[in-house]
Amino acid sequence: MALAEKRQKRSSFTPMMIEEDAALRNGSRGLPPGPWADAAAAAAARPRTTERHITVHKRLVLGFAVSIVALLAVTMVAVLLSVRFEECSAAAAADGPPPAGSNGSLPGPARQPGAGQPPGRPAEEEAAAARGGEEAAAEEEEEEEEWQRRREPPPWTRPRLPRHLRPLHYNLMLSAFMENFTFCGEVNVQLEVRNASRYIVLHAHRMHIEAVRVAEDKLAGAVRVANFFLHPPTQVFVVVLNRSLEVQRSYNLKIIYNALIENELLGFFRSSYVLHGERRFLGVTQFSPTHARKAFPCFDEPIYKATFKISIRHQATYLSLSNMPVETSVFEEDGWVTDHFSQTPLMSTYYLAWAVCNFTYRETVTKSGVVVRLYARPDAIRRGSGDYALNITRRLIEFYEDYFKVPYSLPKLDLLAVPKHPYAAMENWGLSIFVEQRILLDPSISSISYLLDVTMVIVHELCHQWFGDLVTPVWWEDVWLKEGFAHYFEFVGTDYLYPGWNMEKQRFLTDVLHEVMLLDGLASSHPVSQEVQQATDIDRVFDWIAYKKGAALIRMLANFMGHSVFQMGLQDYLTIHKYGNAARNDLWNTLSKALKKVGKFVNIQEVMDQWTLQMGYPVITIFGNETTDNIIVIAQERFVYDSDAKTKDPDFGDNSYLWQIPLTIAVGNTSHISSEAIIWVSNKSEHHRIPALEEASWLLGNINQTGYFRVNYDIRNWKLLINQLTRNHEVISVSNRAGLIDDAFNLARAGYLPQNIPLEIIRYLSEEKDFLPWHAASRALYPLDKLLDRTENYNIFNEYILRQVASMYLKLGWPTNHLNKSLVQASYQHEELRREVIMLACSFGNKHCHQQAATLISDWISSNRNRIPLNVRDIVYCTGVSLMDEDVWEFIWMKFHSITAVSEKKILLEALTCSDDRNLLNRLLNLSLNSEVVLDQDAIDVIIHVARNPHGRDLAWKFFREKWKILNARYGEALFMNSKLISGVTEFLNTEEELTELKNFIKTYEEGAAASFSRAVETVEANVRWQRLYKEELFQWLRKSLTH
Ligand SMILES: [Zn+2]
Repeated sequence: MALAEKRQKRSSFTPMMIEEDAALRNGSRGLPPGPWADAAAAAAARPRTTERHITVHKRLVLGFAVSIVALLAVTMVAVLLSVRFEECSAAAAADGPPPAGSNGSLPGPARQPGAGQPPGRPAEEEAAAARGGEEAAAEEEEEEEEWQRRREPPPWTRPRLPRHLRPLHYNLMLSAFMENFTFCGEVNVQLEVRNASRYIVLHAHRMHIEAVRVAEDKLAGAVRVANFFLHPPTQVFVVVLNRSLEVQRSYNLKIIYNALIENELLGFFRSSYVLHGERRFLGVTQFSPTHARKAFPCFDEPIYKATFKISIRHQATYLSLSNMPVETSVFEEDGWVTDHFSQTPLMSTYYLAWAVCNFTYRETVTKSGVVVRLYARPDAIRRGSGDYALNITRRLIEFYEDYFKVPYSLPKLDLLAVPKHPYAAMENWGLSIFVEQRILLDPSISSISYLLDVTMVIVHELCHQWFGDLVTPVWWEDVWLKEGFAHYFEFVGTDYLYPGWNMEKQRFLTDVLHEVMLLDGLASSHPVSQEVQQATDIDRVFDWIAYKKGAALIRMLANFMGHSVFQMGLQDYLTIHKYGNAARNDLWNTLSKALKKVGKFVNIQEVMDQWTLQMGYPVITIFGNETTDNIIVIAQERFVYDSDAKTKDPDFGDNSYLWQIPLTIAVGNTSHISSEAIIWVSNKSEHHRIPALEEASWLLGNINQTGYFRVNYDIRNWKLLINQLTRNHEVISVSNRAGLIDDAFNLARAGYLPQNIPLEIIRYLSEEKDFLPWHAASRALYPLDKLLDRTENYNIFNEYILRQVASMYLKLGWPTNHLNKSLVQASYQHEELRREVIMLACSFGNKHCHQQAATLISDWISSNRNRIPLNVRDIVYCTGVSLMDEDVWEFIWMKFHSITAVSEKKILLEALTCSDDRNLLNRLLNLSLNSEVVLDQDAIDVIIHVARNPHGRDLAWKFFREKWKILNARYGEALFMNSKLISGVTEFLNTEEELTELKNFIKTYEEGAAASFSRAVETVEANVRWQRLYKEELFQWLRKSLTH
């Protein structure tokens, strides 16, 4: 799964803002949840109450009355949902394989009054079907009492499913009613019994259960169902039987149910788009991590792998898709069709998927015969917007098959581009779903950054077809095992498509390593492997720590193992565990064995446990000139931004935070550098002998920044390094130049280093022709800029940065023509560098840059032809909106409405947040909550971008507090979006007053999102502390520097 905000465009920057990319990624700082607004509507259809308690004997007396009440309740439900259950049953009747052990009875319990009883329907099932609502609550209470007497918690109240049953195979038949957004289904689960029990507990949530039947497979004998009920707190469904299921026998569980195709973002949900002025609807699924249970009753934990056979009945004007290809389609006379899909291999529920839509597609075939199709809205397919994705997907499948030495497992792979999705994409096996903005690409209006975004999301999801789908983590605590790999391979796979871009060696640093170290440097961080139990907590693990720290640790591992041994190890791991589950120790063991094969002995589990089970990361300090006999001292401690947190946390003082660190050190002087082998540092402080250490030699740690830690030095060494950069920076590698910049800014921000050191380092940039160090500087300057942008002396800082940028800006100039494809391949580094420098120049107010942007915008308005170079459009739009009058804002607003290309739409929307007119910003904030105007997933970006604008920060903060109830209802359940919003709005608050406002706000609205709010408080506290301790020191140095 690719998180939506990942690699967001650097499109919306505010005039004072350097690198919104950084910030959006910083948006990752803080992530978490709550109920959906639609819940109320759903609840109306599924009354539940626990008020009444009907005892057994009373129930006997009330038997007749109950069935009347139940029939009425069912009728009400049917009317409310307008579900045509007759059709549901007819569909299943047409072809549904008769469920094992049943006598052919079919779904269709909620018949209209007087519709009569179908022949052959067992009376027992009928009775069961009639029970629901209040009665079910009574059943549950009664069962609970029974367990209370036993002094044990009932199995349905435990956070994990009881282990006594295992699903082997599911037969799932669905009927989707797109005209009223409901669906009904019949699931038949073949169960294996491990321990005898009277209870069947599986997941089901927010659905109406119509009927339940249990039968012993071979004997076709029914097992009487005593009662059944949903237990919403743990999102499970409980079937209580009259007798125990017997060990090692196999049973069939049949459940008939119905539910809504909801207007939200999880489970089986709907969205829409407009074609030729007509609104068209589609239904798609998002099951990861715990939402399959909203679409069908199932054992919704990744360990329960089973095979699935799915049939979907829908109107023939739609088509249906699922993980596997359609085997047969059965057409009915009334314009309905049932698609029967082939059976899946063993798989978990969270990457099962289906869709009902009226999209069209284009297709290609890999060398190994895998059919790849891209499905999207018909106009996008006609324009060829999916062709790029289709083409690279074919090549990437070939790449992964070769790299992993394990073929792609399914006969086909469909990529589905949908208008609304909570994440950038989801890796459903054989049916990966992408939000349009992360897969459709119109070459005539897409920038390189956009192309890179699209590329990397696709590389990510394809990696998951192996890491995640074929081999699945045992449990969510190790979600990083799949997400870390998919994220790491984004860079490896992109290097395959674009050799020479050096993604894994270079871009990885700024986009992953530097970014996650910001987040993981908070005292309130958490380990990459984190325990989770409750369903409601599971979303929490999908955060940047899992993705980015996971990827950074994997990269460190690949580097200290050596890439070819690492690759061999992965091949073994996938081969051993395919179609199964694996935990992190399985990976460590396989990799240790791979090392052993080449004669190296490292206990990978012992090393990696420290990195995965401890939060945070170390800062290594190298003291070079302590003694004269080539001895250096290396010390480690946990890096943390807020040093006050150290005094608060007693663990900081002792040795509890220690890592085994694979440190590489180089010794250099003005003309050469000599590298050393890995030094394993495992103590708090160690002495090491470094040969050839001369008086004028500097030391450089973490060669090419392959390690997940920061490096600090004594001031003398920093000065020697700065000197080296100024005289001849190319002696130090590109990655280390970027690394030095990022380490210096962050060490200073946390108070480990004087404030002037980072500003002295970036002085050499006027000679820097590589993109990466500029990118690192731009990103590192961003939070500093946000700390200063509302201060009185901001212009001193502004002036200093402008001076550093001026000469490179002049040298590089502006891009002229649109880039064609071959140019993209050849000049990526150069174009990205130019873009970065233009962004810095325009953000900090370079006059020429402003003029150029204004001229380009005026030309667009007067000619109505957009000749602005693609790669800088976001910068030009934003600068134009911030500098020019309201008419420009209105013009951009109008274009935002009229343009259909998704990439362009997004940067136009973000440009609107750059205005310094507070009325316009307020207007935009209010409009953002209208789903007809701004897509749900984009509204968050609007609010966050207004918060980054110094003119809008307080407006967004106020808006956030006033609308919190609405926002939380809308995004609360999609934890990641909610926490992105919280961190995005709060991360640059930096006054005492704002800190108090934040704390008071949290006191009032404590429910949900607690982790995000505690990170927010820590971040704002660190900001306030920095202002108090270091701001003046920084300004003093800047003043002195500018007068020299
Ligand atoms: Zn993923």
